[in-house]
Amino acid sequence: MTTTGADAVRAAQDLPVHTLHHWVGGADHVGAGDRFSAVTDPAKGVPTARLALASADDVDAAVAAAKAAFPAWRDTSLARRSHILFRFRELLNAGADELAQLITAEHGKVLADARGEVARGQEVVEFACGIPHLLRGGFTENASTGVDVYSVRQPLGPVAIISPFNFPAMVPMWFFPIAIAAGNTVVLKPSEKVPSAALWIARLWAEAGLPAGVFNVLNGDKVAVDGLLTHPDVKAVSFVGSTPIARYVYETGTGQGKRVQALGGAKNHMVVLPDADLDLAADQAVNAGYGSAGERCMAISVVVAVGDIADDLVDRIAKRTLGLRTGDGRRGCDMGPLVTAAARDRVVGYIDAGEAAGATVVVDGRGSDVDADGEGFFVGPTLFDHVGTDMSIYTDEIFGPVLSVVRVASYAEAVDLVNGSPYGNGTAIFTNDGGAARRFQNEIEVGMVGINVPVPVPMAYYSFGGWKNSLFGDTHAHGAEGVHFFTRGKVVTSRWLDPSHGGINLGFPENS
Ligand code: NAD
Repeated sequence: MTTTGADAVRAAQDLPVHTLHHWVGGADHVGAGDRFSAVTDPAKGVPTARLALASADDVDAAVAAAKAAFPAWRDTSLARRSHILFRFRELLNAGADELAQLITAEHGKVLADARGEVARGQEVVEFACGIPHLLRGGFTENASTGVDVYSVRQPLGPVAIISPFNFPAMVPMWFFPIAIAAGNTVVLKPSEKVPSAALWIARLWAEAGLPAGVFNVLNGDKVAVDGLLTHPDVKAVSFVGSTPIARYVYETGTGQGKRVQALGGAKNHMVVLPDADLDLAADQAVNAGYGSAGERCMAISVVVAVGDIADDLVDRIAKRTLGLRTGDGRRGCDMGPLVTAAARDRVVGYIDAGEAAGATVVVDGRGSDVDADGEGFFVGPTLFDHVGTDMSIYTDEIFGPVLSVVRVASYAEAVDLVNGSPYGNGTAIFTNDGGAARRFQNEIEVGMVGINVPVPVPMAYYSFGGWKNSLFGDTHAHGAEGVHFFTRGKVVTSRWLDPSHGGINLGFPENS
């Protein structure tokens, strides 16, 4: 809910008194704007806070703080920077549970899943603790007589990170540990649906001894995003969100001469070959399809059943799906609510459309029982069989707990199906045939591939990113590519003259 002007003030008065603002220059920053949105607890369906949405002045304040902090931070020794990273890691370990609680309260995912999210983000912090090693350049002695050549990588300046609602801690952590370790300063613009994790992290950085202004949080919506994309002092933008906005961010940011990596949406297929272990495949389809209520960019949303296993596979998936408990993520349930009422209504709309288009509703999540108090935004896990590739439940990213089974006759048909998708984030193959798996990894046009692994999220020291409409730009997140994104290269050619050298020579230098 976004309101403006006098309406906003009136609406805000009806919301809980707790107001969340920004974090700029190492302290709370009360926004200059008069627009607010509501932050809700999706399991209860009630607002828990109001969020100040950044104005253009707030964008300027956050970028100015990041700009002012940059010279001293880039000149801070690597030893000191990595020391602060290590301190941050220790504090994050100690507070992981508290952070997970905040995530569950605003996103809705079950606590165990929120803890997992924090742990995956922590991996990137640990990777970034090794920044002295990661920034080591090359050195060539005596490249030409008396001439040495060496390369260094240097930070860019203030960088912006714009993140989606579905991983309030992990997605920002794909970027900021490396950006900061490499000597940049950061303005993080989290999703307005889940602002508390970012504000909590900002305080943790301060406790870890990070100088004021190196990490800033700007809460807001399109105004904040557009302000960052067009601000001359923002040197690079890391974005994660839906494909249309990723494309917009990429085009706008690069049009302004910025370095941009923009990760977009997905529609991930899991191919099950006839020789696969069907119990394993069914377990993993359920885990990857319904985990986090399907609100993961690496969620499996399509199971491609190859050959005559389809009936058996659908039965096994259905049995497991019917055993899931949906409810408040703080009650030990398997699956929580959708993030907002609008998200719930959208998912229900897709289920209605799939049914109307003639797909078989094997398990219907509409109106299923939930273990929660109040009017949370729940849809139970839903399983469709006999899904056609022209149906919207197949073509669109639903971002909800809806799993579609598409039946194909052969391996080749399965590969054509996956490669025909405009998205290319993640995919998986389930088989006991090493040759088939090897062929799949080679032929499939997707950035992250799992072999008997349904959600192949790379470790922090590899890089995360999809192909096609799942990523705009050429740099993936974290790992070596992350270090590359947040630094720029410089090559130095150096000669310390012997006093006997000298003379004029206007020719192009030749090596000797
Ligand atoms: P979203 O695109 O609605 O929002 C992402 C960010 O963009 C938010 O910070 C939001 O405030 C901002 N934003 C929204 N509309 C905007 C506009 N018109 N102009 C400028 N900025 C705008 O995405 P979401 O709903 O928060 O997240 C879910 C999406 O993110 C899904 O499509 C999911 O697949 C994708 N995602 C992708 C990855 C990946 O690694 N590829 C990871 C996580 C999520």
